[in-house]
Amino acid sequence: MHDDRTLVESRLKRVLDERIRPAVHPASVPLEVSVWTAPGEPVPVAEGLAAPRTPIAVGDAWGAPWGTSWITVTGTVPAEWAGRTVEALLDLGFDANMPGFQCEGLVYRPDGTPVKGLNPQNQWVRIAAPAAGGERVELHVEAASNPVILDYHPFLPTELGDKETAGSEPRYELARMDLAVFDETVWQLVMDLEVLGELMAELPVEGARRWEVLRAVERALDAIDLQDVNGTAAAARARLAGVLAAPAVPSAHRISAVGHAHIDSAWLWPLRETVRKVARTTANMTALLEDEPDFVYTMSQAQQYAWIKEHRPEVYARVKKAVADGRFVPAGGMWVESDTNMPSSEAMARQFVHGKRFFLEEFGVENQEAWLPDTFGFTGGLPQIIRNAGSKWLLTQKISWSQVNKFPHHTFLWEGIDGTRIFTHFPPVDTYNCSMKGSEIAHAARNFRDKGVARHSIAPTGWGDGGGGTTREMVAKAARLRDLEGSATVRWERPAEFFAKAQAEYPQPPVWVGELYLELHRATLTSQARTKQGNRRSENLLREAELWCATAALRTGLPYPYEELDRIWKTVLLHQFHDILPGSSIAWVHREAEATYAGLAAELEALIGRAQRALAGDAAGGRELVFNAAPHARAGVPAGAAGPGGTGPAGAGCSVTARAEGGFVLANGLLSVTVDGDGLVVSAVDLATGRETVAPGARANLLQLHPDFPNMWDAWDVDEFYRNTVTDLTGADSVTVAADAPDAAAVRVARSFGSSTVVQTLTLRAGAKRLDIDTEVDWHETEKFLKAAFPLDVHTERYAAETQFGHLYRPTHTNTSWDAAKFEACNHRFVHLDEPGWGVALVTASTYGHDVTRTVREDDGGTTTTVRFSLLRAPRFPDPRTDQGTHRFRHALVPGAGIPDAVREGYLISLPERTVTGSVEAVRPLVELDEDAIVVSAVKLADDGSGDLVVRVYEANGGRARGRLTTSFPLAGAVPCDLLERPWDGTRGEIAADGAGVTLALRPFELVTLRLTPGA
Ligand SMILES: [Zn+2]
Repeated sequence: MHDDRTLVESRLKRVLDERIRPAVHPASVPLEVSVWTAPGEPVPVAEGLAAPRTPIAVGDAWGAPWGTSWITVTGTVPAEWAGRTVEALLDLGFDANMPGFQCEGLVYRPDGTPVKGLNPQNQWVRIAAPAAGGERVELHVEAASNPVILDYHPFLPTELGDKETAGSEPRYELARMDLAVFDETVWQLVMDLEVLGELMAELPVEGARRWEVLRAVERALDAIDLQDVNGTAAAARARLAGVLAAPAVPSAHRISAVGHAHIDSAWLWPLRETVRKVARTTANMTALLEDEPDFVYTMSQAQQYAWIKEHRPEVYARVKKAVADGRFVPAGGMWVESDTNMPSSEAMARQFVHGKRFFLEEFGVENQEAWLPDTFGFTGGLPQIIRNAGSKWLLTQKISWSQVNKFPHHTFLWEGIDGTRIFTHFPPVDTYNCSMKGSEIAHAARNFRDKGVARHSIAPTGWGDGGGGTTREMVAKAARLRDLEGSATVRWERPAEFFAKAQAEYPQPPVWVGELYLELHRATLTSQARTKQGNRRSENLLREAELWCATAALRTGLPYPYEELDRIWKTVLLHQFHDILPGSSIAWVHREAEATYAGLAAELEALIGRAQRALAGDAAGGRELVFNAAPHARAGVPAGAAGPGGTGPAGAGCSVTARAEGGFVLANGLLSVTVDGDGLVVSAVDLATGRETVAPGARANLLQLHPDFPNMWDAWDVDEFYRNTVTDLTGADSVTVAADAPDAAAVRVARSFGSSTVVQTLTLRAGAKRLDIDTEVDWHETEKFLKAAFPLDVHTERYAAETQFGHLYRPTHTNTSWDAAKFEACNHRFVHLDEPGWGVALVTASTYGHDVTRTVREDDGGTTTTVRFSLLRAPRFPDPRTDQGTHRFRHALVPGAGIPDAVREGYLISLPERTVTGSVEAVRPLVELDEDAIVVSAVKLADDGSGDLVVRVYEANGGRARGRLTTSFPLAGAVPCDLLERPWDGTRGEIAADGAGVTLALRPFELVTLRLTPGA
């Protein structure tokens, strides 16, 4: 037989496009349209409904950037449509090729009840089925004219990302505003033909099935009278029934479809718009759940539920009912889909605490899965946190975005730094916006790496970010793919159903140990430095506030600020969303974030001040008290206590000596640091061992400037070629003595470059084996990357970087493509590298990004390992003025440091002591540990208001630790708990409590949460 495939396929495309799809709505009449443009920010629904309208016509421009227009449509169903299904078709001027990211609407009835969202791929509103004819129609659309930021030519700098710079030019033209007849038979025919046409294109040409489908399609097209599609659609469908009824083969891949809309909690729109995006999408999805009995919808991010609860209670009531029916499934159990690289140990834990607690309290639902489809990499600390939150599964899709290496599994056990293993699934469909296209379904089946031992995968299905979620078309397609020869099978399922099946069929999946590093978006560890510092400052202040407020509550009866801390934590957690903390949002989001963090800092400082005042007693007492919130003693003050201070490790006096050849030598009896005439560190000698830290011939704390213009995703990406060009900022405007006193030796170095200036203060303090480096940059560069380099005389193949509840190792070399791809990585408070017996730490209170490289010196054969902290970038998309202005950073070089020193100095630099004048001699700590390897992560009162003290500790060095936690109050009971402060039901290291404390034996990096009940 002749091969006429192309002919039939082209015929199918033209007839579908030009005849069949237009016949879905065979008759229409225009609606009357009027509008009210809200003058500024969105208004309450009642106000929008009541506002006076003026006429507007199809074709008219509307919608200034970020504006809200209340559009009213009215009309009458023609009498001759009686018995037909009637819909309103409301096209706000959508670009259907871009399913979200543009204008959107939420449709209301005149009484203010929401109907559904309007989105580019979802423009219909059902009016009547069947219509009586003559019905009066009145609908109101709250239309948001959000501008397109990521356009067809992506990543061009734009001023549209902030209402303060976006101007007032209308962005949209009102398109179709009609009442129309909906012909369900024709619509079903479209679905049949789309499914078969898309399946056919994926089938092997050598196979019979492809030809059977092709001939059936041809016969169906033959049955259509092109002048009477509506009258002949049923006959055409009948000719397709046979091929649609052929069942899938037994070995077919099994896809669990999950209704989904990935809604970024802020990104190319401000936080306030996400509230409305969620309301529109959930209005759509609750409506679709009513129409489609098999459909199941999943939504993550407790914050998004909390928003609609507060701002759109009518929509929330529908969500709550659908959750109770088991059809609308809360997923993930985190407050938001956060970044996981940068949040602190406690913050990562609290994401789960607040997320899971919200779902439990609102719905009585406890999730077992972590749901992070779009997060930019996953730390080795995360598995233990997931497990301690009472969950056991993880879903993400993002690792498929890696530029270089293809991940070897789709279903596997992911093992974290402490040995916790989490059953993890990467959807092989490689998207979290699946639309049930044949190409996607076939890709999932072909791409699945675990064929032969596993059969199930998940497909998050629906348009996100303002696309409105799953469409009725996707549901119709999924129904046809339920059991169809040549295709993977598709079922709507809850994530828990998928994970249970996947785990049952694959009891011994392969294991991946360590972080899930995303080989992309590496610059998100640096972009928008002020947002990142706001996060870090808030995390540190929350630690202090919980500690001192709990201490004051137990000691003095000062009321514990439960409500304030709960609210502040949720705000901090929200801003860890995977486009806010990473710095990839528009200017508006980061401008607001900075202001929000400033407000939180003021609130937390007030809470800390109030608690410390209560503990210190009357200021008239005149005693200076040093409060130490760090987990290690300092200046003679125990961890979590206050005392007179000033009795730290004995250090010789500090001195600064000028050098004949320029520069200075700083010394404090522990370190001798030489700063040359350029203000660079040419030597840092650990006086206890005589060991030099800086590589021979090299200079440390060298600021380096690179051009930084990635190929795509400007705020997100730094491409490896940035390193090819570098400018060393060696010229100094001045190098002067900043302090020469018994308790500190310091020099100050000022430099200028480009349009920017930098002032650095290098300080040795008495008794501290640490060179503190405070940097203030007035940054006015464009598309540049600023690094601070520390070339160290250390020979090592790996280095440690702190992450949540421990640290992980990365190679210093580039042996494999996997090693080479990690050319920019994350640290929390320290990076550490060593040779047996001697090491160096670089600690920071300010930054997350770094890189480590190695060279071998020609002259002496020694190895130079260079650590560089990433300070600032200056991308122009999506915020055209990213990071312009003043920034302050604090880093330190710690020669002669082992891992325990790195841990300790990291905390000390992040949690400066506070001095308060009071009347008491000292404040005893609530709890004390006799083993430095066991580090206190949090001291707080239990969230249930019982008055119990919750103490979270972890083994910080990566070894075994035995220690005793003693309480300064009578202890009535001590129970190990999960992160939600519920009794722990898993296995635990040895924990034995008595009336005065708890004896602990911890595995490497093991975290333990203890609930301590004070006795009488
Ligand atoms: Zn996202």
